[in-house]
Amino acid sequence: MKLLNNLYAYPEQGMLDSNTYILKSNPGIIFDPGNTQYLANKIGMMQQDGIDPKDIGIIVNTHLHIDHRTANEAFKKLSGGKIALHPMQKKNYQLVVIEADRLLGVEPVEFKEDYLLDEKVLKTGDTEIDLIPCPGHSPDSICYYIRNDKVLICGDVLFDMNTGRVDLPGGNADELKKSIEGLSQLDIEYLLPGHMGIVAGKEKVKENFSYIKFNVFPWL
Ligand SMILES: [Zn+2]
Ligand SMILES: [Zn+2]
Repeated sequence: MKLLNNLYAYPEQGMLDSNTYILKSNPGIIFDPGNTQYLANKIGMMQQDGIDPKDIGIIVNTHLHIDHRTANEAFKKLSGGKIALHPMQKKNYQLVVIEADRLLGVEPVEFKEDYLLDEKVLKTGDTEIDLIPCPGHSPDSICYYIRNDKVLICGDVLFDMNTGRVDLPGGNADELKKSIEGLSQLDIEYLLPGHMGIVAGKEKVKENFSYIKFNVFPWL
């Protein structure tokens, strides 16, 4: 589904899947391919929107939990794109991939990155994306802020009226609160979370930050 300009959204398709977002550019970027099981389905929807996986050159993740990254390798094969990890994701790979998968009772689904992203900015075509580390839900959570479009791809840091869980390896409620407070200072028109719906409109995004501040973290 087209969201705005060059940005497309493909909602999670079932258990252990995540929302997937695409930025059409040169090269295109896929954010969180999700779970391998649902990839064919999502690619079908992309093709209906006129997106050819071969136009996607960069595969990134908001964080490396199982529901966001198991399709990384499969999407790479189909598209010819390269998997790019943020340095914080590389650093926390053991915790967020191996230990978290084991805790969830599955044999870890591993993958190998092709290169590391810059710490702060990801550029494609005319678009600059700020990379904002937001630990709390996981130590490797990175939010992608597309300044020109006022879009924040926020993974599981926060959702529509809720936040991500903090009980998986490396999770921390204090850090999550600080991360969300930092994000609330940004000028955001579209909040694109890893699960459930999109929050659209500056006022709605503001209300969502206030709701979370007063209802999710009243004890902090
Ligand atoms: Zn997660
Ligand atoms: Zn998730």
